Amino acid sequence: MRAAIFRGPRDIEVGERPDPVIREPTDAIVRVVLACVCGSDLWYYRGESPHAVGSIGHEFIGVVEETGSEVSSVGAGDMVVAPFIYSDMSCPHCLRGSTISCPRGGNFGDGIIDGGQGEAVRVPLAESTLVRVPGTGHSDQTLRSLLTLSDVMATGHHAAVSAGVRRGDAVAVVGDGAVGLSAVLAARRRGAERVIALSRHPDRQAIAKEFGATDVVEARGEAATEAVMDLTRGIGADASLECVGTPQAIATAFAIARPGSTVGMVGVPHGDVPTAQTFFRNVGWRGGPAPARIYIPELLDDVLSGTINPGLVLDYETDLDHVADAYAVMDERRAIKSLIRVGSL
Ligand SMILES: [Zn+2]
Repeated sequence: MRAAIFRGPRDIEVGERPDPVIREPTDAIVRVVLACVCGSDLWYYRGESPHAVGSIGHEFIGVVEETGSEVSSVGAGDMVVAPFIYSDMSCPHCLRGSTISCPRGGNFGDGIIDGGQGEAVRVPLAESTLVRVPGTGHSDQTLRSLLTLSDVMATGHHAAVSAGVRRGDAVAVVGDGAVGLSAVLAARRRGAERVIALSRHPDRQAIAKEFGATDVVEARGEAATEAVMDLTRGIGADASLECVGTPQAIATAFAIARPGSTVGMVGVPHGDVPTAQTFFRNVGWRGGPAPARIYIPELLDDVLSGTINPGLVLDYETDLDHVADAYAVMDERRAIKSLIRVGSL
């Protein structure tokens, strides 16, 4: 089969990988329909994090072609959403909501395990990993939104869940990348009355507003903190969502969090949490990699009912032959997030 192959920093091309086959009775083979490039794929692309030579991509939706003898939750012909990791959903960690820590789990597209940016994927632990999409004849818009449940929308949702966003809250979202925009949508979905998006790009502000942002703050650093404090009558945000991970973004997220609140952190941290300042204001933080598999069912219902349309973050589209372009436009910040159309339903 044809698949994206990571050869090294700034070197991704389409090549041949072995056709996936059922190896374990718990496997399924999924033919990929839509895939996308994750912000975290860019770390490998830029050489900031190591990645094995081989398969890449961990966000995909597709159609089940074949299942092993122990898989009954999905069958041939079913459309499915795959979370970015596979997990057994029955170990102590999965049962406490940390599917990322599943000892039997693993990452799609890690160089060895098939990636989403390819024509087909062998999905281990398919019974507990894949989520079947009910119905047929879904619009392309719906399919794009279903694709975001693999990772980005689930991650934005995780920020809102981790910060304990409640009905009526004033929420501030630090970061206007695909995750930050998804966090805006997730905060509104959970009933936030006010969502302050920190963004200085007009195209991203437009999506934030479409997703329900009530206020936009263009300033950065201390000026951003002042602006959010002004908007919240000097109190601070009831829930602050950190969706970037840079030292400045972390500092801002904690500075604008009201005393007694929780910061939801989903940006991979490249800076430290200000412990003393946080301690004396009774501010906590929660977060980490999203347990996407746990969130997909409820988010999927809202996508199918048309309540949310997270696919709007996918603002660039290409096919598998042009996967290198999909990375380049994100690297050059000419796109928020790239969609790769791999197959048809
Ligand atoms: Zn597990």
